[in-house]
Amino acid sequence: MQNTAAVPVITIDGPGGVGKGTVAHLLAKKLNWHILDSGAIYRVVAFAAEKSHLSIEDCEGLLKLIKDLALHFSTDAEGVMHVLLNEEDITARIREPHIGAAASQLSVYPAIRTALMACQRQFAQFPGLVADGRDMGTVIFPNAQLKIFLDASPEARAIRRHRQLIAQTINVTLKDVFAQIIERDERDRTRAVAPLRPAEDAIIIDTTILSVDEVFTQVVLQWDLCQQEKV
Ligand code: C5P
Repeated sequence: MQNTAAVPVITIDGPGGVGKGTVAHLLAKKLNWHILDSGAIYRVVAFAAEKSHLSIEDCEGLLKLIKDLALHFSTDAEGVMHVLLNEEDITARIREPHIGAAASQLSVYPAIRTALMACQRQFAQFPGLVADGRDMGTVIFPNAQLKIFLDASPEARAIRRHRQLIAQTINVTLKDVFAQIIERDERDRTRAVAPLRPAEDAIIIDTTILSVDEVFTQVVLQWDLCQQEKV
């Protein structure tokens, strides 16, 4: 049995649309590490609840559903992560805005967050893990070697998220995306358990006027510095 406590972890937290996923993928690819998109797990629960006609407010029902969740992640030849539920590929479907909103709603329940903890920690496997989400550095991997918190203005995030959704042929207006970002930010930042906030030892990068390459370069630099400190 592996001692997963010794697995190196880099956490990348931040609000929706900040580009955590893109940076996490680039970093995992560069280091040849595993990746955890924790938001996808909350989205899968929201998707499965919708499929079972379960209300987002039915916490007991959601907990039962989580127990039986047959969830798998796989990476294809192009390095694209696929989310499989009961062997059905739901990668694109969990990206729909109404699933994101439902995921944000159900993620406020402490019991649901606790039920999803072990599933997230299982991703910590050698040679290492890049984990992206809201509470990776504060709750799930508090002993991570490097904690990054990405931030950006809501306007910049709405533009990025809108571009992403249009590229995925999900038809939404920029105005609606902006409104959803504001609503989700408020819920994620003010919930009682694991609210969105940087860990005390996180490095905060404001990405509002930075390109993906510039953010990535800064993150890699922080990792290099972190490695040097250990020597
Ligand atoms: O990151 P993504 O937009 O896919 O996450 C969907 C929702 O899941 C977020 O708005 C947030 O409420 C919730 N979430 C969370 N904790 C995480 C990741 C996501 O509460 N670690």
